[in-house]
Order: sequence, then C-alpha cells, then structure tokens
Amino acid sequence: MGLANHPEVIKALQTGAEKYGVGSGAAHLISGHSTAHHALEEELAEFTGRQRTLIFSTGYMANLGVIATLLGKNGAIFQDKLNHASMIDGGLLSGAKLQRYLHADMSSLKQKLSSCHAETKLVATDGVFSMDGDIAPINDLAAITNQHQTWLMVDDAHGIGVIGEQGKGTLDQLNMTANDVPILMGTFGKAFGTFGAFVAGAESLIETLIQSARTYIYTTALPPAIAHATRTSLKLIIKGNEQREHLQTLIKKFKQGAEQLGLNLMPSDTAIQPLLVNNVEKLLSLKNNLQQQGYIVGAIRSPTVPAGSERLRITLSAAHEAQHIEKLLSALASALKETS
Ligand SMILES: *Cc1c(COP(=O)(O)O)cnc(C)c1O
Repeated sequence: MGLANHPEVIKALQTGAEKYGVGSGAAHLISGHSTAHHALEEELAEFTGRQRTLIFSTGYMANLGVIATLLGKNGAIFQDKLNHASMIDGGLLSGAKLQRYLHADMSSLKQKLSSCHAETKLVATDGVFSMDGDIAPINDLAAITNQHQTWLMVDDAHGIGVIGEQGKGTLDQLNMTANDVPILMGTFGKAFGTFGAFVAGAESLIETLIQSARTYIYTTALPPAIAHATRTSLKLIIKGNEQREHLQTLIKKFKQGAEQLGLNLMPSDTAIQPLLVNNVEKLLSLKNNLQQQGYIVGAIRSPTVPAGSERLRITLSAAHEAQHIEKLLSALASALKETS
C-alpha cells in the first residue's frame, strides 16, 4: 500500500516519539502499555468487527502466543501444508499433535479431523498464502470447523489492508464474519507499513491471551511511537479503496502481460505473483539480472518453499505505476532471454 514511506505515517512516527518517547520501556503488564496501544486496539476492534483485539510485538509472536495458549499436549492442530512458519512453530511449541493437510484440500482436512479425538482442536490457515499468493477456502474451512467443534484461526498478514472493502482483508472479501472465524490475526509490517501485529476475537479469547500468552507477557511492548504511526496507517487503509483498485489494475495488467510473454505464473490474483523457476542457478541469475535492471525481486528457495518449486516472488505495490509494470515485463523478458 506504499505506507512505509507515506508522509503522514512518517509524521505520525515523529509526533508519536515526541509524545511517548521511542521505546515502551517494559512489557505490557508492567508499565509498557500506553494510551497509543490502547487506542489502536480499540480502533482495530471496530475495524475488524470484533469485541476486542490485542497487540503483539510481531506476527511471529502473535501466532506462537495464540496457538500455545489454546492448545497443550492434549490438543491437536491442523495446518495447511503451505502455512507460514510462525504458525508451524506455534504448533510445535504448544506440544499439540501436529497434522498438516494438503494445500487447500478439504477432503484431506476432513479425513484428519474425523480420525482425531483430541480434547481441543484448532485449524490454522494463512488468508492469502505468503509464498503462493492464492486465497484459502475459508468458507469451506468455516463450515467444516463448525461441524467438528474446532477452533478456526486465520493469519491474514497478506490480506488485511490490501483486499476487501476498506482493506478489511480476506474475511471481508469472502463475506465471513467473526462467527465463522473466531480468531483473526493481522500484521502491521506488510500493508500497514509499520511493525507489529494484532489478534482479534471475543472478549474471552483476548482476556485468556492477556493472562496466558507468554509471547505477550514476557516481552517488551511494541514502541508506542510505532503504535501511534500504525493508527495513522489504519486511517489511510480505511480510506484507501482507490489505492486498492489501482493495485488490482496493476495486478491484472501484470498477469495479462506475463501471459503474452508465455511466463509460468502461479494461479494468484493478489499482489504476490510467483514465477516458478525450478533451477536454482537460473533463479539466482534471473534475480541478479533483474536487480541490475533496477528491480528487487525475491528469489525464494527451499526450505521456504518445497524443493522443486523455487520461484521469483514478484510483489506489486499500490505505489507502483502502470509504466513500472510495463518496464518490469520487458526487464523480465530480457532477463529470461539472457539466462536461458
Ligand atoms: C510476515 C508474516 C508473519 C510474521 O509477521 P512478523 O510481524 O513479520 O513477525 C506471519 N504470518 C504471515 C502469513 C506473514 O506473511
């Protein structure tokens, strides 16, 4: 969304630092919780349409905190094979039985759920998958978890701010409510352009996290100046429909151009547009070639993605212009020619 360099967000960080200082000085439950954190939590509750939210210092810690709080050794966690590492690690930390179902494959999930008799069960999924850019079948997940009396958690790090009306994310885009998905996690480091994360849910969930989530309790609170800047990001996100439409136009333009070039794009309609290049040497020379032409494109390898599915992770931004897409496409074409 181009917010990390937005003048209003930069200004808010400066005024936040003047008002609150730079660091929070302590954990939330000691004296680190400022009025900036409190105001942001209330605004996020309204934004997500949930009773309450809780700020964590990073998304990684939010996922660890939620999963390890809800599940213990007698629990079971069901994870999409392509889930972000922080949810996988949360599952490991909790000691719960870890079951990974095939990517977006509901019969694989149902099979695993039916044969599981754990006390507490949680299905966890990315909203927008971080390395593939596709969207989880949350409607189906909600129906299945409801039927199996299982918690459902969505990590919407790549959906919140970028898709949905007012940037309300993947759940909004799929018309899902808090009843369908009781646990929502979002981060500030991506579309918000700042740093940190939040968990949104029912009063009882948030109260339980405050009492028990060790990654909330035993760490220094997010700098209040960052919370203050994030409040400004949130305001810009809410009124950013025009920027989101612009981004969607760029995504369509890129996909059309890539198809004309015969590029092997993965099936994604989001800002994450991976191009499979499963020869690691070629992948790295493509990345370097693009960098020399002025384009920063991540070369994603194993173990971040399965070996054999190495890729260029092309990431579009609302701060890009149509001409950037045209130039990127011709840079890609020439890079591919030179490295073939
Ligand atoms: C970036 C990301 C995280 C981690 O968030 P941080 O704030 O960077 O720790 C978690 N989940 C997903 C899907 C992400 O993309």
